Formats: sequence, structure tokens, C-alpha cells
Amino acid sequence: MSSMAQKIKSPQAPDSLSALMLAWYDNHARTLPWRLAKGARSPRPAPYHVWLSEIMLQQTTVETVIPRFQRFLRQWPTIEALALASQEAVLKEWAGLGYYARARNLHACAQRVTRQHHGVFPQEEAALKKLPGIGDYTAAAIRAIAFDRPANVVDGNVERIMARLHKETMPLPMAKKRLRDLAAAYVPDKRPGDYAQSLMDLGATVCTPQSPKCERCPLTDHCAAHADGVAADFPRRAAKNEKPTRFGHVFIIRNKEGAIFFERRPQKGLLGGMLGLPTSDWLAQKPPTRKPFKGQWQKHPQIVRHTFTHFHLELTVWQIGHEHPPLAGAFYPPSEIEALPTLFKKALWSHS
Ligand code: SF4
Repeated sequence: MSSMAQKIKSPQAPDSLSALMLAWYDNHARTLPWRLAKGARSPRPAPYHVWLSEIMLQQTTVETVIPRFQRFLRQWPTIEALALASQEAVLKEWAGLGYYARARNLHACAQRVTRQHHGVFPQEEAALKKLPGIGDYTAAAIRAIAFDRPANVVDGNVERIMARLHKETMPLPMAKKRLRDLAAAYVPDKRPGDYAQSLMDLGATVCTPQSPKCERCPLTDHCAAHADGVAADFPRRAAKNEKPTRFGHVFIIRNKEGAIFFERRPQKGLLGGMLGLPTSDWLAQKPPTRKPFKGQWQKHPQIVRHTFTHFHLELTVWQIGHEHPPLAGAFYPPSEIEALPTLFKKALWSHS
């Protein structure tokens, strides 16, 4: 251990660490539309808002989520209103936020809370986790932020902060349980909701993945990685497996009015329940070009590339003019393109 590391105070000082974080949060909290105004402690933010923001923020940046959150609430100001919406309308509003299973679960969760819990979210994590789309992280976040009850809210930000504070050498994802246990020791009884949000904000603005701004951090005296000048080397990560690539074809059919033919994708599977362009199966090898029907198909020279969580996709684009394609689906005006998943927007942009 370096001489500087020996000088740092033990990271195992839960009370002082949470007190430092709360003092920092009082001055540096981000202003976000799902939070209370600065300085307000009571009442808590609406559980509906906390839940909606947490679901939207999974894998999506705060900047992207802010206008979408506000638009969503204008359309469905209460959880009861969301429960009454059609799944089609919710999926359409979700377009571009990705991971459409989340939108289906969001809708199902709103219906369950409305029907089984009279529109009121339960406060216990075990009951929250029985609701569609709510896992460990979201249950803890709702309990802490909406109800100000102690909960260990651990996302990638908290893992990173804990790994640096303790200079944890075990790589992620193996270190997940260890980092979760470390984080649990710091959860305070006092203002646990603000404490959880303070870690989120520190991870987003100061203890960032690259180039952490340790000179602005309230935890420098407690941080082993900072003391040794190796903060950016943590958390350690196991070597990633390369994502495989799948291949397929996508078919653009226009009628004389310029409307575009979309089909509704099956409920189960990727982009389930969404409108989309007809495609072939997506396979590990380039599939033979089997068109959905005979005609004067034209191949577009540009390949459409898109990356999903577990694989890259490359699609060859084909187009044709047709008035009555023998497929299940319908023609939609070009204005509906906005509601399409990004993959299909890319296909249409590539050929426009
Ligand atoms: S001192 Fe630096 S590395 Fe340590 S928690 Fe703060 S920002 Fe992160």
C-alpha cells in the first residue's frame, strides 16, 4: 500500500460517508423533472413519477429521458390513465427509447397497480418485485426515493463508486455481490432517498467512468483508488465476449401515394408488438434472398447496421412499388415513421 493510501481514512465509516454525501447533495443535486425542487424534503416525489423515470432511465441517458418523461406525463398524468391506455398507444409513445419489453411491462405494471393496489405502489421491496418489469434495482429505488425508506439502491454508478472507494480488484461482473454488500453498509436511516440519489448524481457528474473529477468529490479522503492515483482503473472488468453478428433482409413496399407497408411484429421476441417493415429471419449466416412475394424488387446498395444488447444485425434493403401486397399488415403514411423502432427508421433513411 502506498504511503498516501495509508493516510486515507477507512472507507468503512458508514455514518461519516453518508453524512458527506448528503451535505454534498444539498448543494449539488441535479434538477430533474421527476424530483422535488431543491431543498424540499416533504412530501416525497410521486411514486408514479419515480417508477416511470427509473424504467425510462434503464439503458437510456438522462438527456434523452427528460423530454420523453414530460411528454409521457402530459399524455398519461396518472397511473390510472396509463392503465386505461391501449398497449399500442404506449408502444408508440415509447418509440426510440428501445427495449420494447420494458414498455409492455410498464403498461402491465400500471394495470396491476391500478387493479390490485388501488393505484398505490406498495412500499415493500418484495411486493414491488412482484410487479411486471420491477427487479431488485427498481424496487430499491422506488422504496428509497418515493417512500424515503432505507434500501440498497445499486446500479452501475454505485458499483463504480464502491469499487474505487475500496480499490476492489475482483472484476465485474463477478464482483457484483461484493460491491452490493459494500454499498449496503453505507445506507443510512436518515434521508435514505436523498442518499441514494446523491450516489446517482456523484456517479453521473463526478465519479464518471472515464476521467473521474476527484478534485470535486466529497469522498476523496475515503477513497483508496484516488489515494493511489488509479481511480480510472476501477472497476476492473472481465474480458468481454465479442457480440455475434446476425444477417437478414428488410423489405420496403410503397404504394402510389407514397404510403409504406408495415406489419405488426409478434408479441414475443425482439421489438415484440411494434410496427415494423417486413423482414426475413435474422440468422448467423447470410440467409438466401427469399422475397415475401414475386415482383420487380430492387436491392439498395447500402447495408443497414444496428446493434441490439446481445448481437449486431446487418440487413440488406430491398424495395418495390405495390398496391396490394399479399402480406398481413397495412399501408401507413410516412408520418408514422416517427413511431417505428430505430432499426426500421435506419432502413427507410438508408433508402430515401
Ligand atoms: S475520489 Fe475520485 S474515484 Fe474516489 S469516489 Fe471520488 S470521484 Fe470517485
